Amino acid sequence: MGETEPSRERTAIGPEEAFQLLGHEIRVQILLALWRASDHTLGFAELYNAVDVDDSGQFTYHLSKLEGRFVRHADDTYELLYAGHRVIDAIQSGVFHERLDIDPAELETDCIECGTALTFVYRDHVARVSCSDCERVWLEYPFDPGGVVERSVEEVATAFDRRTRFVWRLAGAGVCPVCAGDVRSRFLADVPREDHYAADHPVTVHLDCRRCSFFSYVPVGGAVLDQPAVVSFFFERGRSLRDAPVWTLPFVVDGGRVERRSIDPWRIQVTITADDSTIRLTLADPGTVESIDAVET
Ligand SMILES: [Zn+2]
Ligand SMILES: [Zn+2]
Repeated sequence: MGETEPSRERTAIGPEEAFQLLGHEIRVQILLALWRASDHTLGFAELYNAVDVDDSGQFTYHLSKLEGRFVRHADDTYELLYAGHRVIDAIQSGVFHERLDIDPAELETDCIECGTALTFVYRDHVARVSCSDCERVWLEYPFDPGGVVERSVEEVATAFDRRTRFVWRLAGAGVCPVCAGDVRSRFLADVPREDHYAADHPVTVHLDCRRCSFFSYVPVGGAVLDQPAVVSFFFERGRSLRDAPVWTLPFVVDGGRVERRSIDPWRIQVTITADDSTIRLTLADPGTVESIDAVET
């Protein structure tokens, strides 16, 4: 950081203390009532009536515990603060209290390897797109239950594709999609567990947040999805990379399109095909394209 960095003020309570502040059902009910209110604001009487509690003394006690950190109290009204919104977000993601499994269902899209209709399944907070015939797993990644409710299976699959790409893109750019902290990305020759998605690729991109528990093993092709050269390669051929689910893009999901030329220093090649044209990207690290070559076919 340069000399012109402004000074910062940091005040924090312990994380145990912060979570303890939420540790009563009346407090969670108060946050939910404020979230459902217009402008996320209610007067004392309205808020009291919205919460299932008989004793106003008990209600006032719990409300006071939320004030300042999760709820703002001013001019006799109560308003949800940013931290309160984030508690609601965590609840609505469904991760902590919902299990919404989806049995294997056929998608409208065919397997890039064998042409069989792909299968979508969602279990234990993990979504998977695979082929029942050639048994390839094309994408497997965590997904929140909030993305499953009120959507058809095709819609869930589309949301799953878009969210996964967003997570890869943001984390690959160094910003944690969960906590906004610093994410390091590096090539990794061996994923530590065989059952991790893309463990069968010759190299993956290891994303690791230095602040929270977020980590990921991403296919190399997933790290170049928004490289301008790749986007325009498809665009010039009348294809929209953005609208194609990753399981229809062999350079992303098929480890056979990735080659490990050298480890020290890293030189990784990704072969990308659209229509009858093929290019080869050489990467020195997950974010740095060293060269792009047209491949004669
Ligand atoms: Zn197949
Ligand atoms: Zn993080």
